[in-house]
Amino acid sequence: MKDKNELNNITSQEPDITNPEIVQEVINTMGLGIRRSAKDILVYLIPQLQKQQILKSSDPIIHLRVSGDGRNVGRKIKHVMVTFMILNHENRHHHADYHYTVALYPGTEKYDTLKFMLSLFINELKSFKENGLEVSGILWKFELYFSSDWKFLAICLGLNGPTANYFCPWCCCSKNQIGDLNKNWCIEKSIDQLITNYNEINGHINPPLFSMIPIENIIFDELHALLRITDRLWELMLAEIQENGLFNDLTRSVILGEMQRLKVSFHFWEDEKSHIWKYTSLMGDDKKTVLQFFNLKLLFKPSRAELIRKLWDGFYELYCALRNKNTDPAQLKQQSLEWLSLFLTPSQGNPSRPKIYVRGLYMPNQITPYMHALVYHGWELLEKHKRWGFKAFSCSAVEKKNHNQVSTFFRKTLKNGGDLLKRKSAIQEIIEYENRSLYFNYNVLSKSPKVKRIRIK
Ligand SMILES: [Zn+2]
Repeated sequence: MKDKNELNNITSQEPDITNPEIVQEVINTMGLGIRRSAKDILVYLIPQLQKQQILKSSDPIIHLRVSGDGRNVGRKIKHVMVTFMILNHENRHHHADYHYTVALYPGTEKYDTLKFMLSLFINELKSFKENGLEVSGILWKFELYFSSDWKFLAICLGLNGPTANYFCPWCCCSKNQIGDLNKNWCIEKSIDQLITNYNEINGHINPPLFSMIPIENIIFDELHALLRITDRLWELMLAEIQENGLFNDLTRSVILGEMQRLKVSFHFWEDEKSHIWKYTSLMGDDKKTVLQFFNLKLLFKPSRAELIRKLWDGFYELYCALRNKNTDPAQLKQQSLEWLSLFLTPSQGNPSRPKIYVRGLYMPNQITPYMHALVYHGWELLEKHKRWGFKAFSCSAVEKKNHNQVSTFFRKTLKNGGDLLKRKSAIQEIIEYENRSLYFNYNVLSKSPKVKRIRIK
């Protein structure tokens, strides 16, 4: 029989969209996809951005960031969206309308599907990188970047999934070495090496899809790092209570009371069949609140509560330092390594002599890939991309865009009845909507009534 107080591990695969009718509509649309030419979009955009002095002929370099996102629609499928944005357009980094969609399909995030859906885009990017793009008499050069959540990034890089022994996009660290504080990991892979010899590099099972984007221009999404690492810290704290045999009604009501104080919506419930206790997966801002303000002294003796609090505060400080363009990378490196060694604080003394025993924190196998990336590659990526800062590579605008479009357009087709042609129009409509907003965002003051249409591939 299962332990009645067993806890459910947080799953990152929880559906983002659960409305059963929308889920069914998306399932019905599987097999259809839409691609849009990045070149067509740029040919339209560049003159507009020149007018606004965002792109200048005196500095004809376009900094183009590629992103991808898969929303979980129900439990089985995803709505996948690949976008690009122009980093030069600094005050629009976090605006969904300025992340331009180049591929869209309901299905799964698989290497072969992405390779097929992205073939046009990949060729265009290669050409931008090699030949530039001539628009209004100027030859524009390109610097290319990539940012997404871990899973999407791993697939595009041809990596063998986050649970594999060799998990890191930037270095050759293995799971066995992840907690070795004597190692000094830095960005050591190169994209050329992956193109020619991917099968000789541990963990790589496919050639990289974006072979024109250098490894040091792949930046992890800071928001995902915050969310996933907070999940792990929260999970480890609850696991300790459970290990101590204290995950009971009283503890649960103390946690619920504290969540109420913090105005965070949170529940525990017991699964009837398995008797496993489950709990609400916290939303982004709520995670930040819990990480900063949850009173651990309600659950642990003061010295223990202070140690865990120090680890949580240290992580939040790291996250804030990473997001600040003015942070000194060398200092961030130092701060990151100190945090990791705090995470790995060893126990002192003998547990059978509780008076002199001081319990440490966590074990090397409890370090996650995101923690490794934050600690070892965060400072280096910040140093290389100081001009933009980490926030410029946040994926939240793309996620929001994908979420809103699925919620809006698949609901709308539902009302049209269920035939295939109308279902197809949901993704078609998303692209048409994007083309319209592209026009309106750049032509508010324009007197020309002519709508420039962008061809849909
Ligand atoms: Zn690494």
